[in-house]
Amino acid sequence: MAYDFDLYVIGAGSGGVRAARFAAGFGAKVAVAESRYLGGTCVNVGCVPKKLLVYGAHFADDFEQASGFGWSLDEAQFDWATLIANKDREINRLNGIYRNLLVNSGVTLHEGHARIVDPHQVEINGERFTAKNILIATGGWPQIPDIPGHEHAISSNQAFFLKELPKRVLVVGGGYIAVEFAGIFHGLGAETTLLYRGELFLRGFDVSVRKHLQEELTRRGMGLQFNADIERIDKQADGSLKVTLKDGRQLEADCVFYATGRRPMLDNLGLENTGVKLDKKGFVEVDEQYQTAEPSILALGDVIGRVQLTPVALAEGMAVARRLFKPEQYRPVDYKMIPTAVFSLPNIGTVGLTEDEARHAGHEVVIYESRFRPMKLTLTECQERTLMKLVVDAQTDKVLGCHMVGPDAGEIVQGLAIALKAGATKRHFDETIGVHPTAAEEFVTMRTPVAG
Ligand code: FAD
Ligand code: NDP
Repeated sequence: MAYDFDLYVIGAGSGGVRAARFAAGFGAKVAVAESRYLGGTCVNVGCVPKKLLVYGAHFADDFEQASGFGWSLDEAQFDWATLIANKDREINRLNGIYRNLLVNSGVTLHEGHARIVDPHQVEINGERFTAKNILIATGGWPQIPDIPGHEHAISSNQAFFLKELPKRVLVVGGGYIAVEFAGIFHGLGAETTLLYRGELFLRGFDVSVRKHLQEELTRRGMGLQFNADIERIDKQADGSLKVTLKDGRQLEADCVFYATGRRPMLDNLGLENTGVKLDKKGFVEVDEQYQTAEPSILALGDVIGRVQLTPVALAEGMAVARRLFKPEQYRPVDYKMIPTAVFSLPNIGTVGLTEDEARHAGHEVVIYESRFRPMKLTLTECQERTLMKLVVDAQTDKVLGCHMVGPDAGEIVQGLAIALKAGATKRHFDETIGVHPTAAEEFVTMRTPVAG
């Protein structure tokens, strides 16, 4: 049978755009449907605008520290509306770039909500198109627990478009988004409290990193409430929010921001017309080559719920395009040693195993850890400290994990990730000459283990 397209991609986000462009480059006839915004979550309500707001928030530190270097400034003023307008302009520019990228690579763009009507057919804007393969790249959506008053809370989707900076913000959650946005609101001057249901936020990160960030955020004056969960939210006559915790305590805020994870975006996608299966958590189930239980339908990125990071969606998109249209170049995505950064203030950068993971995996480990006051701060009042940690296998000398909390941690860890991927040993680190004077050189000068 002749199909309208070789590949019909639903979702022009990180993974969908990458798969569509490369498939078209390999000679396939490709369409991509997008219902909301070109570039998906990352470009519109994720990585990019978030990082711009983090940069904005960091100026508070810069202004405070400038006097130590002889600069005097009148009291710094911040205008939220300007930051948001400039951010919006930049995102509009990026939307245009994504449109050009798709069109110039020969992909047909359909703007509207796509629905699968059978394993080889998609409906969009009242028209139907057939395709040999359909790729579900529809991403995720913020998930707010269904507590009384949840309608008064916002998620990251709304936070990027607030008309004004709230005076008092309560951030709920202890993952990436909670920690990053708490840093943004606090840095920009809002009275900010982060509320997390567990003992210590950032579950899954190295425990030294989690404790270090807790100390640094406390030093900065952010409110941290652990072992705390919200029972209900009530709007008061003056528009402020009264938050009742499960332990009976009450807090007041002008904005309650939930960052409690993301669900797969499957709304009105028509999966009931296919044999596609979902896993226990509701994400689309795929095999190691991204094929769903319906042989003509594939899925990737956040909607499969493996690793919800843009570079992973990009790698999966590339793998799918190759698997379908350039099988001789197909290489599976390697999910080991994925570096990641949390753009909290200060940043976290990490790659490889945490100390706990390494021990649980049966490694006998040697730990190297360094805490120091960065050189840039020595002329200032700021007492912030940087943390660097190496987890090393005692038998093989291989570096199993690198962890950092401090300025530019993400930038530093990207290079270390290559070394770890290449199987670097602690001896390789020791024999590498440092770049002086930098903070990063500490990673190659740690000589004395702290624990074995
Ligand atoms: P998406 O980028 O979400 O794209 C899915 C697209 O499909 C969307 O554009 C959506 O509108 C469209 N769509 C959905 N249903 C339909 C339909 N039926 N018809 C047509 N179109 C449809 N990752 C990082 O690596 N670094 C970061 O710093 C980072 N920061 C983040 C900050 C925030 C606040 C958030 C929310 C996420 C962040 N992420 C970050 C995660 C990253 O954004 C995602 O992992 C990535 O965008 C996933 O790509 P995707 O292609 O799977 O889906
Ligand atoms: P995460 O899964 O990272 O964190 C969710 C947090 O919410 C956890 O602390 C979790 O607690 C808590 N939580 C979950 N359900 C509830 C509930 N019902 N009540 C109270 N707390 C709850 O999700 P995020 O929303 O922060 O981010 C989604 C994903 O997006 C991230 O996992 C990451 O992959 C990606 N992302 C990446 C970024 C980056 O690369 N810098 C930045 C932002 C997002 P518990 O730990 O107890 O389960």
